[in-house]
Amino acid sequence: MIVGVIGGGQLGRMLALAGIPLGLSLRFLDPAPDAPAREVGELLVGAYDDPALLDRLADGAAAVTYEFENVPVAAARRVGAVPDARALEASQDRLIEKRLFRRLGIPTAPIDDEVTSFPALLKTRRLGYDGKGQRLVETRPGFDPGHVLEGLVPFDRELSLIAVRGAGGETAFYPLIENIHSRGILRSSRAPAAAAPQARAEDYATRLLDELGYVGVLALELFDVGGELVANELAPRVHNTGHWTIEAAETSQFENHLRAILGLPLGSTAMRGEVVMLNLIGALPEPAALLGHRNVHLHLYGKEPRRGRKLGHVTMLDPAPETIRALSDLVLEQH
Ligand code: AMP
Repeated sequence: MIVGVIGGGQLGRMLALAGIPLGLSLRFLDPAPDAPAREVGELLVGAYDDPALLDRLADGAAAVTYEFENVPVAAARRVGAVPDARALEASQDRLIEKRLFRRLGIPTAPIDDEVTSFPALLKTRRLGYDGKGQRLVETRPGFDPGHVLEGLVPFDRELSLIAVRGAGGETAFYPLIENIHSRGILRSSRAPAAAAPQARAEDYATRLLDELGYVGVLALELFDVGGELVANELAPRVHNTGHWTIEAAETSQFENHLRAILGLPLGSTAMRGEVVMLNLIGALPEPAALLGHRNVHLHLYGKEPRRGRKLGHVTMLDPAPETIRALSDLVLEQH
C-alpha cells in the first residue's frame, strides 16, 4: 500500500521507517534531490505545487499527507491530503492561529494592541519556524499587516502535547513533554514532564482536533506559566518534540499518524520509561561516543552538516543523570 507525503525531510524519513513494518511504501515530493527521505522511499523531485508531480504523488496512494506546515494549501487540496487544509490554513498564519485558539477559549500571548510592555516579539505572520521570522523590538512598530506583535510570555517552561485523532474521531495523547529551545531551535525534550497539567492540555488539544475535524497527529506547543497553559502554536504534523516516541512509547507518533490517516485503529501512547531526547544540530559528534552508553539510540537524517541544521537526534531511555550530563556535553559542544 502506498502513502504519499508532501515534503521529504527527516519527518518523512521517520514516517517511512514506521510504515515499513505495516507493509507501507512511502512516496515523497520534495524539491531537493538529496532530501532525507530519498533513502527510504520513492522521491519525486520538484516543486510542491507542481500539478503533474502532485498527481503522480497521489496516483494509487491509499492516503496523502504532508510533513511540514508550509505546504501550499492548493497543493494539499489537489491531492486530498490528510489532515485536510483547514489545519494548514490555521498553522500557516500566526494571526489566524491565535484567533482560532482564542475562539476555542485557549489562552495565548497578548497580541498587537494588547501588548503593553516591551521588549516584545515581532513575528512574521507567515512562513515562520524555528524562531525564524521573529525579532525582539523595544518600541511599538508601525502597523504592518504582514507581522504580528506578541507580548513576551514570562513562562516557567515550554511544554508540548502530541495528540492524535483517528478517522472515526477517537483521540489519544502522549504525556506532556518539556522542551528547551535556544535561538528559537529545539535543543532537547524530556518526557513525561514533571507535575504537568496533562488534563488541561488534552482538553485544549481536543477542542482544536474537534473544531478542525482533524485526522492524524497534531502537536500543540504551550508555555507553562505558574501551572496555567498559554498556547504558542500548533503543528499539523508529527513533531520534533515527539521523536522519543520511537523508542519510548508503545506506538510512535509516526506509526500513529499513519494509522490515523489510513483509518486504522490507533496504537497505545503509553510510555515505556522516562526519556530525554537531544537534537544534533550543525555538526555531529562521533557515533561511538554516543552509542557507548546504555539505552542510547542514535538517529541520523542523512543531511550535510550546516550551521543551525538539524542533522539527527539521540534518545536516552531511563537515563542515569551522568548519562544525560555526558551526552549533553558531547552534543552541545557541536551546536
Ligand atoms: P515560534 O517560532 O513561535 O515557535 O517561537 C520559537 C521560540 O521562541 C519558542 O519556543 C519560545 O522559546 C520563544 N517564543 C516565541 N513566542 C514567545 C513569546 N510570546 N514569549 C516568550 N517566548 C516566546
